[in-house]
Amino acid sequence: MRSGIGFDTHRLVAHRKLILGGVEIPHEVGLLGHSDADVLTHAIMDALLGAVAAGDIGQHFPDSDARWEGADSVFLLREVMAILRRRGWRPVNVDATVLAERPKLMPYLPEMRCRLAHAMGLAVEAVSVKATTVEGLGAIGRREGISAMAVATVCPEADA
Ligand code: MG
Repeated sequence: MRSGIGFDTHRLVAHRKLILGGVEIPHEVGLLGHSDADVLTHAIMDALLGAVAAGDIGQHFPDSDARWEGADSVFLLREVMAILRRRGWRPVNVDATVLAERPKLMPYLPEMRCRLAHAMGLAVEAVSVKATTVEGLGAIGRREGISAMAVATVCPEADA
């Protein structure tokens, strides 16, 4: 077994959708980024890539590449799954935390888990998504952005 860690932050701005874990969440601001800026899915992708020492999402899906402009991050997560498969690994479980002052994410967590689990070929029970505020502290507390962190465990495909 191997494990990897992922962390990401995106800025909150007007006139952008808020997409977390592949789920569009009604909110007055959304995350800014080259892709759909789904910070949760990005942290999970980096955790998976980290577990197999396959670089990071910036390397595989560079901002400079027009192909990834406005990209659906769940689609990119499927691409990461292909990288894992080619190297002979499969995910075992993922645990993630979203750091956001607003909106309240609790109602959306089950749907995020479903979408992410489906993209990774995992049971929903193997995908944990949690949310916390930062008690109003710092940039996240001022609602200037949202961060996410994730840990992923993988095992050799042959052990499936
Ligand atoms: Mg990102």
